[in-house]
Amino acid sequence: MALRSFTRFLCPVNLTKLSSVGSIRCSSTQSDNKLCFEFSPEQQQIQELCRKFAKEEIIPKAAEWDKAGEFPKESLKKLWELGLLNPEIPEEYGGPGLNIVEACIAMEELSYGCTGFSTTVLANTLAQMPVILAGNEEQKKKYLGRMLEEPLFCSYGVTEPGGGSDVAGIRTRAEKKGDHYVINGQKMWITNSGYANWYFVLARTSTDPKQPASGAFTGFIVDRDTPGLTPGRKEWNMGQRSSDTRGITFEDVVVPKENVLLGEGAGFKIAMGAFDKTRPPVAAGAVGLARRALDEATKYSLERRTMGKLIAEHQAVAFMLAEMAIGIESSRSMVYRAALQTDEGERNTYYASIAKALAADVANKCATDAVQIFGGYGFNSDYPVEKLMRDAKIFQIYEGTAQIQRMIISRQLIGRFQQQNH
Ligand SMILES: Cc1cc2nc3c(=O)[nH]c(=O)nc-3n(C[C@H](O)[C@H](O)[C@H](O)COP(=O)(O)OP(=O)(O)OC[C@H]3O[C@@H](n4cnc5c(N)ncnc54)[C@H](O)[C@@H]3O)c2cc1C
Repeated sequence: MALRSFTRFLCPVNLTKLSSVGSIRCSSTQSDNKLCFEFSPEQQQIQELCRKFAKEEIIPKAAEWDKAGEFPKESLKKLWELGLLNPEIPEEYGGPGLNIVEACIAMEELSYGCTGFSTTVLANTLAQMPVILAGNEEQKKKYLGRMLEEPLFCSYGVTEPGGGSDVAGIRTRAEKKGDHYVINGQKMWITNSGYANWYFVLARTSTDPKQPASGAFTGFIVDRDTPGLTPGRKEWNMGQRSSDTRGITFEDVVVPKENVLLGEGAGFKIAMGAFDKTRPPVAAGAVGLARRALDEATKYSLERRTMGKLIAEHQAVAFMLAEMAIGIESSRSMVYRAALQTDEGERNTYYASIAKALAADVANKCATDAVQIFGGYGFNSDYPVEKLMRDAKIFQIYEGTAQIQRMIISRQLIGRFQQQNH
């Protein structure tokens, strides 16, 4: 079933028809006292499709991709054929036009299979989001349109060797020369960058060191084949080894002014604004990983016996499973709350950061506890949970570290408090 043919669908709320695992109810996030929602039949189809894809295409191959550090091009091509390699490209540009809730559903299921694989998809969306949010018609048709003509990849290039959290401190420069810009600098840790067809690149255009970040940077779309743009070697990371992470060097890279997003000086807001849309699906990926850890640990605990009992019958082990379930259910609720809020047109920065921070911590706890439940076998790469533990860590680092999420959350809540008490 190809998703490109999906028409837009609404979710009729039907409280009597709840499916079990995989369904969260939640009709509106507009106030703090409403939470009731279920996936529409079409959303359940997306879930089933991705679950099947993970089971048949990802899980059997993921350990090999991980060992070899292999970028799974063939399987990504199959995902493209289903219309899900670029899930959020709007229908008017030929994409499936999934909203954020639907993208989360897809990412949760694909990530259950392998988060190295799903990170490639998330990185495509992260690169496309500035174009979706701030691109003009021509840019959208050209750069989003081509993603649908063949299985291509793109990258979001913001982080630099000198820092990722301090985005206002980035040093890549773009200098205006007539009707084009010349970019010089370096990016680091850019996902998909060895395979990308084009890049979203944030560069400083202001020469005034006192210029606030909101006006000092510009967002560009840069074609891969532009002379002077050179991706570095593939980084050998702790986990998610099937995803492709590299540095990129820019040496006198000439970019036409037509490739500026929105206008000179608008880049910082565009780059940061993308995260409200992309953090919920990233958090959904962490939930998928956590669910996998719980399933693997539960299965093992019902096979392994010690002291005359299944280990699941030891309260210490059963309670670890219970703690995992508590974390998964609560982070999952936050993910879909943050997703629905932005789909309903509200600003979701606060909930997106809560979802990202919580889901990342839960994924790490669940993966670590799954290793614990496996005992010595958990520490061994012939068993699935050590990979989960390695893969989980990056969720506390990319798309804003655990500390940066807490900075955002605390700023938002202090701001709200001050507003309400004045
Ligand atoms: C596998 C991988 C894929 C990635 N993909 C991409 C990508 O596609 N595109 C992209 O642009 N970037 C990408 N990144 C970069 C990622 O977003 C950054 O690594 C991340 O933002 C952190 O930046 P940093 O590594 O420079 O750490 P730093 O910013 O140097 O932070 C170091 C430590 O200090 C803490 N810290 C920093 N500032 C503060 C503060 N003000 N208060 C409290 N604590 C603070 C951080 O939380 C962290 O613990 C990727 C990174 C990795 C490892």
